[in-house]
Amino acid sequence: MTQLPISPSSSNTHAVVIGGSIAGLLAARMLTEYFEQVTIIERDYYPQHPQPRSGVPQSNQAHFLLIRGKQIIEELFPGFVEELSTKGAIHVDVLKDFLWLSEYGLWPRFSSDLTTWSCTRNLIENILCKRLGKYPNLKIMEGHQVSQLLATDDHQIVTGVRFKDREGKESTIKADLTVDASGRNSKASQWLESLGYEKPQQQSINSFLGYASRWYQGPLKHQVDWTCITLTPKATQCKRGGIIIPIEGEQYIVTLTGVGEDYPPTDEQGFLEFARSLRRPDIYQIIKDAQPLSPAYGYRRTENQLRHYEKLSRFPENFLILGDGVCSFNPVYGQGMTVAALGALTLKHCLEEQKSEGFNLNLQGLSRRFQKQLAQVNYTPWLMATGEDLCWPTTVGGEVTRVTKLIHSYMDLVKRSLCNDPTVLKVFAEVIHMIKPSSVLFSPNILLRVLLNLLSQKENSKNLTETYSLNSEPE
Ligand SMILES: Cc1cc2nc3c(=O)[nH]c(=O)nc-3n(C[C@H](O)[C@H](O)[C@H](O)COP(=O)(O)OP(=O)(O)OC[C@H]3O[C@@H](n4cnc5c(N)ncnc54)[C@H](O)[C@@H]3O)c2cc1C
Repeated sequence: MTQLPISPSSSNTHAVVIGGSIAGLLAARMLTEYFEQVTIIERDYYPQHPQPRSGVPQSNQAHFLLIRGKQIIEELFPGFVEELSTKGAIHVDVLKDFLWLSEYGLWPRFSSDLTTWSCTRNLIENILCKRLGKYPNLKIMEGHQVSQLLATDDHQIVTGVRFKDREGKESTIKADLTVDASGRNSKASQWLESLGYEKPQQQSINSFLGYASRWYQGPLKHQVDWTCITLTPKATQCKRGGIIIPIEGEQYIVTLTGVGEDYPPTDEQGFLEFARSLRRPDIYQIIKDAQPLSPAYGYRRTENQLRHYEKLSRFPENFLILGDGVCSFNPVYGQGMTVAALGALTLKHCLEEQKSEGFNLNLQGLSRRFQKQLAQVNYTPWLMATGEDLCWPTTVGGEVTRVTKLIHSYMDLVKRSLCNDPTVLKVFAEVIHMIKPSSVLFSPNILLRVLLNLLSQKENSKNLTETYSLNSEPE
């Protein structure tokens, strides 16, 4: 291991990133533009080929890359999308290729410019890792676990980290900037506490949603004209849902979900029975004779969790926290990787601002500036995820205020509109894929359409859920 010399806190010689998953890799890529040397310290060894790994327990589960996330990663790593394609990811027009069996009916399907790629999280990580490996000023130290922050005697400035290898041998590494990207179980708050800082206030909103995901060999039966399926639960009435997404290697991940501790089982029979119990038979019909390639993997740590580092009255210089360690979401909304990418963009923005304040990059004040701006970036996806989760009476944490109730009622009308108004649907898709702000759903144009749709639905109460049969083309 290279021991770098101690540098003054205002220099930009060396940045260390703790954790090399999606958030860490994207942040490290950004830092290569501002630091002479960037080191990622990752406790796992990366698999040679895209595969799940133990340091990321969610890596067996379905991960869908939202359009905004795809765009940012492509900006950071030009050619990323092309590589996804050559490595077997599947191109998805989110309005044409999704069979979206919503609680109010089937969403209309039509060609659009809203496209992304469907694959495993592991393929995305593998591509990012290999591409980063080509940066001459980037080094990845695998199999090393960070255990502590180093700081100046007065604890005002973080100066690096202490870590150990797999044999338990401890070492330290100095850094001008230390970035924690160690995920939902980040120890950053304990590390800060041991330096005399307060713990950040933590918000947790838990709908007690559970996942069970199983991998299948394609092609799947009944795959007429769709690439992905989402069968949503129906708040307060039906807690169960399901998702099918294609991944590289002509395989599929089938995920079953249950809200309010209605956890999908992971045994063979239980998994199938749960699929059979969904409010529509489609997913069961597809998987009952399909060839499984894996056991079903369960996952239950799905609470929305937000740590308010930006509100701490004291915070050390030269230390940042991003990714799931600051804000993690109920994963069913597919936001995590995209928010991690937005975090990397925020880092760039803050570093540029620091630069503009002096001739050289001055790190003083960066920590506070970054945590404050990141909190703003996290705000909307947090409201979107927790707003949905608070529709369930079994959700714990968070307050259902009058305003929340009003927003729920309006969003319920929007969701009803999605089934028969392609204009509203397109805007809705742009919002959930984070390419438009959620405020557009409250614009006068959309508001009017939603109200008119409500009136016309009352006159013509056709139930669209009945209009799609797996064995036929949609109407
Ligand atoms: C079930 C599930 C499904 C999901 N589905 C989606 C989806 O469809 N779309 C989407 O965009 N997002 C999804 N996500 C979220 C996504 O996985 C994460 O939000 C995203 O990858 C960013 O995570 P991260 O990099 O902050 O942390 P993680 O991915 O958790 O990675 C943390 C990294 O830090 C390392 N590490 C931890 N501690 C240390 C230490 N002390 N020293 C060194 N290394 C350490 C770990 O080994 C790991 O590599 C899902 C999450 C879950 C749980």
